Amino acid sequence: MEFRKDVQEAIWTQLLGLMPERESELKDLWEKYQPKFNLVEDVTRDGKVILDAGLYREVRFNHRSMKLIWLASFVAWEGYCAVDAGWDTQQFELVRFKSLVAVFKKIMDADDPDTVPWPDSLPRPGTLPDATNDVQLRAAAELAIFASGWALLHEIRHIKHQQDGTSSGPYGSKQELHDEEFSCDAFAAEFILEQVEQFAGSEGVDASRVRQKREMGLLHAMFALSMLTIERWGDSVSHPDTLSRIHRGLNIIGTTVEKDSLKCSCMSFIALSAIYPNSPQPFTVDE
Ligand SMILES: [Zn+2]
Repeated sequence: MEFRKDVQEAIWTQLLGLMPERESELKDLWEKYQPKFNLVEDVTRDGKVILDAGLYREVRFNHRSMKLIWLASFVAWEGYCAVDAGWDTQQFELVRFKSLVAVFKKIMDADDPDTVPWPDSLPRPGTLPDATNDVQLRAAAELAIFASGWALLHEIRHIKHQQDGTSSGPYGSKQELHDEEFSCDAFAAEFILEQVEQFAGSEGVDASRVRQKREMGLLHAMFALSMLTIERWGDSVSHPDTLSRIHRGLNIIGTTVEKDSLKCSCMSFIALSAIYPNSPQPFTVDE
C-alpha cells in the first residue's frame, strides 16, 4: 500500500484538533504502535465501503466511507429537524430526509461514488460552512468530524489489540470477534469524552458545553453506524448487531448526556424508522 505523508498528517491533525487535551497520549500511541493510514480505492476486492484495520498497523479507508460518514451527519440533522417540526401533530414531512437517504444509498452502491450528484444544499465533505450564516450546517459538519474521528479511533484500537496480543484474530470465535468490536467502540468513545474537563479548564470554557458537543458527535457516530449497516442491522460472524453497539455507546455517553442532545438523536432515529421500520431504535419515547 502506498505511503502518503499527507494522509498521515491529515488524520493526525483531525484527531488532535478534536481532542487537543490528549496530545501526549496520541503521541504515545503513534510512537508505540505506529499506525499507518492508507487511503485506498473506492472499489477494492474487499468491497466498496472500506474502513478497517489489519496486519498490525494498517488502517484502511476510502473516500467513499468518509463521504458516507459525512453525509450521515446531515441525514441525522435533517431527520431531527423534520421530526421536531411535526412532533405535535405526529405528521412528518420527510421528503428531503428521504432524498438524502437515497443519495446515501447511491454513494454506497455506485461503482464510482463521484458520479452520484452531491446534494446542492450540503457542503462538500470536509468543507466547513460559515459558523455565523449557516449555523445548522456548520453544526452537522462539526459533528460529522467527530463521527469520523470516532471511527478512526475504533480502528486504532484494533491495531493496539493486534500488537498487544489481545486481538481475537481473524479466526477467533464469534464471541471473541464481537468482544473486540465492542472494545474498540468503547475505546473510541472514552477517548473522546474522558478528559473533557481538562480541555475545558485549559481553554477557560464551560465543560458541560464541550461535553455536550462531543456527546452529540458520538450520537452522530452511532447514527452513521446505523446508516453504514443499512438493511443488515443484525449480527454477523465478525460484528455484533448494530443496536447492541449503539446501546453500549449510549452507556458510555452515560447519564450526563443533555436531554436536548438525546432528543435530537432520538428524532433522527425516528425519521429513519419511517423509511425502515426495522432500523435500530435505541431510544424509548416517553413524551
Ligand atoms: Zn472494528
